[in-house]
Amino acid sequence: MLKKPFITKEALDAIIQQYPTPFHLYDEKGIRENARRVKEAFAWNPGFREYFAVKATPNPYIMQILHEEGCGMDCSSMTELMLTEACGITGHEIMFSSNATPAEEYQKAMDLGGIINLDDITHVEYLEKHCGIPETICCRYNPGGVFEMSNGIMDNPGDAKYGMTPAQVEEAFRRLKAKGAKHFGLHAFLASNTVTNEYYPMLALELFRFAVQLRNKLGVHIRFVNLSGGVGVAYRPEERPNDIMAIGEGVRKVYEEILVPAGMGDVAVYTEMGRFMLAPYGALITTAIHEKHTYKEYIGCDACAADLMRPAVYGSYHHITVMGKEDWVCDHRYDVTGSLCENCDKFAVDRILPRIEMGDILYIHDTGAHGHSMGYNYNGKLRHAEILLQEDGGAKMIRRSETPRDLFATLDFSEFYRNIRFDD
Ligand SMILES: *Cc1c(COP(=O)(O)O)cnc(C)c1O
Repeated sequence: MLKKPFITKEALDAIIQQYPTPFHLYDEKGIRENARRVKEAFAWNPGFREYFAVKATPNPYIMQILHEEGCGMDCSSMTELMLTEACGITGHEIMFSSNATPAEEYQKAMDLGGIINLDDITHVEYLEKHCGIPETICCRYNPGGVFEMSNGIMDNPGDAKYGMTPAQVEEAFRRLKAKGAKHFGLHAFLASNTVTNEYYPMLALELFRFAVQLRNKLGVHIRFVNLSGGVGVAYRPEERPNDIMAIGEGVRKVYEEILVPAGMGDVAVYTEMGRFMLAPYGALITTAIHEKHTYKEYIGCDACAADLMRPAVYGSYHHITVMGKEDWVCDHRYDVTGSLCENCDKFAVDRILPRIEMGDILYIHDTGAHGHSMGYNYNGKLRHAEILLQEDGGAKMIRRSETPRDLFATLDFSEFYRNIRFDD
């Protein structure tokens, strides 16, 4: 599928006049339309809720937009809970799917009235000791082994640190029930960035069957099944994007096959998607500022891995459009790099692109999730701004770029760091 920017060159040039590159740009219209499709795809399930995985794009302006579209928030740290609180989101609109969790973070999630999702059986006693046991509680399941589908192995849960074995989930439910829990949830995240409509239905089949067993064996009330994240996006042009309507329909089929006949037609389906909610609706906008011809052809950008780590960390593919050259022949082979003293700081390796000239604007696709949020300050590089392209076409800065003052805020080495006025 042809990958096209969500903004025209003219509109982008106008934004760059106001906000210099580099920056992450988000498409409000795309975010809202996609969130509405997700809601529609699961409208057959009256209790359905998507809890946006905050870690994907922890910006309260974005979270607010998703909340307006009916999403709750999936958090796993103190500051993610604080961001959620700042958006006025509380109670069962919060899912706390954390692991190796400090007591004060459980306490914060409980204070906000969020749903706790326990990652391990030992956390039953830990939670009871520090915070008490809430009436509604969830446990994270890990079946071990590999998660296989018709098109091969999807992922390797047996190698993942998350979740409990089936026997542990059963025992955890038993203990939680004895300690006063009344409503239970079952959660699993078994494969990441799946580009197939089969993943959620297959996961749902496994979780629904397990939910029926647990109900039958323990007499517990299963309130929800949380399919978590893992629904992928088509980063590569040759990939076919997931069809959320087909995914919702696939889950409905197994729901009616397994849960309804078991008298469990009141179970709510929850999701915790991050990538699918945001990735395609964000782009990293950067300017080509250097070219270099040695053993390879290099283009040096004003953004670097501090703004987008996925290619450096996972070798991920992010499509690149040279703005204004969409129709040019792609007859050059480039490594597109950032400025870190790290050879992995390359947005693209051996990428076939049109001839790039200095000053060209590169649109790096699908950075809306796990993009800005994964950024870091290696080499003392500062992370750049986030700009929201609003539905009316206006542009609003929703996070400014970092300044040296931000980077040095944790230092108390000398008067220099306290008193020097930085150019911010
Ligand atoms: C990261 C994460 C998600 C979101 O994953 P995506 O791949 O972005 O959909 C959901 N739930 C939990 C517990 C996570 O850690």
